[in-house]
Amino acid sequence: MTPEEFRRHGREVVDWLADHMERLEDLPVQSTVAPGDVRAALPPHPPQAGEPFADVLRDLDDIVVPGLTQWQHPSFFAYFPANTSGPSILGDLVSSGLGVQGMLWATSPACTELETHVLDWLAELLDLPERFRGHGVIQDSASSATLCALLAARERATRGRSNREGVRERLTVYASDQAHSSVEKAVRIAGLGQDNLRLVPVDGDQAMDAEALARMVAEDVAAGAVPVMVVAAVGTTGTTAVDPVPAVADVCARHGVWLHVDAAYAGVAAVCPELRWVNAGLDRADSWCTNPHKWLLTGFDLDAFYVADPVALTGALTVLPEYLRNAASESGAVVDYRDWQVPLGRRFRSLKLWFVLRWYGAEGLREHVRGHVALAAELASWVDADARFELVGAPRFGLVCLRVRDLDDAGHVALLARVNATGACSLTHTTVAGRVVLRVAIGSPATERRHVLAAWELLRREAG
Ligand code: PLP
Repeated sequence: MTPEEFRRHGREVVDWLADHMERLEDLPVQSTVAPGDVRAALPPHPPQAGEPFADVLRDLDDIVVPGLTQWQHPSFFAYFPANTSGPSILGDLVSSGLGVQGMLWATSPACTELETHVLDWLAELLDLPERFRGHGVIQDSASSATLCALLAARERATRGRSNREGVRERLTVYASDQAHSSVEKAVRIAGLGQDNLRLVPVDGDQAMDAEALARMVAEDVAAGAVPVMVVAAVGTTGTTAVDPVPAVADVCARHGVWLHVDAAYAGVAAVCPELRWVNAGLDRADSWCTNPHKWLLTGFDLDAFYVADPVALTGALTVLPEYLRNAASESGAVVDYRDWQVPLGRRFRSLKLWFVLRWYGAEGLREHVRGHVALAAELASWVDADARFELVGAPRFGLVCLRVRDLDDAGHVALLARVNATGACSLTHTTVAGRVVLRVAIGSPATERRHVLAAWELLRREAG
């Protein structure tokens, strides 16, 4: 593809995406294809000769779009949002176009320095504690952030022994029983043994019981275990419960345990001064992460991960083969982000966040978050006012959890299936205290009051 052909087809692709954005609202939120439909529509063998670009665009319309769940649809209320936006898409395009691989400072200084700088901007926008400034790194996901935090925590707890010789002690990790499954995955990947993930019970609001944590850590220490890390959640996946980070930090301090705070969804709420309470206790955390790719208008994938002291992280992850040696790294004056993550290579991801922060500014980001918080509060007031429904917990951030009062779990699952089958909106469920609960997660950039109202009316109709 020559630059001139790229210019022409690039414009066609941007036009195609802009058209897609404009017609998004008319598409079903959830794909209705059956398993195998997409593959059956594709030719069994790759083309021998190159094909016209127009044929690829046609297949996007005919084969790909029908097989999509429209995550950017204004009536997408499932899971947590996975925002994208014009500036994010364009930043990503530039990243792809430049084709830079930023494993070392020396392999593209701008890739490293822009990332450090943009993450400092984000830290300032979210009012993160000083200890995280200059110590941010972009991971692909919160799952990777948790894994890296665990590897760093283990490095610190074993003074590097675990990497050199392995350890015989039992290394334990703690998280509430509402924590994201990525904690269990990290424990498995790190080879600590799933039984050494100790799930701490929660209180009536689904937040970690810090006294139970204190007891469990003390018992494990008495039994000869080495507690390595506690993961506190600020905004659990099920219900956005917020663990009591200051009380958890007390326990960690008592036993010298690494405190990782997983604020994958809710961390970006701190862009609004009135929501900065989500940062309580962070000044005592060893690491923290949030996903601008969830609720901050930045397309997947971009997790912002911060550590208070990078020494344990780089100690855990630095392996230096001869072919990566270079004068800049040896000068000690630069950051090599390959030592802050699992893979060696890395994309120029900070561009999309940089584009987003510059396009929206702090005010635009606040408006985005506040709009969803206000819509969630309004939906909660409607639920509250309808005697047939009940709220499960207070609405927090953009999430509302609800139940129909006289409906059993199977009835809720059936109700959810009926609502989603209409194609008009998409909701998901979780369980709270063993009961099925419906989740309405408001967070798409295109969502307006009328979309939330339509989903609520649909729910009421389908509830019978
Ligand atoms: N932690 C929490 C609290 C989450 O809600 C999620 C995803 O929803 C994750 C971690 C995992 O995020 P990722 O897909 O970035 O690994």
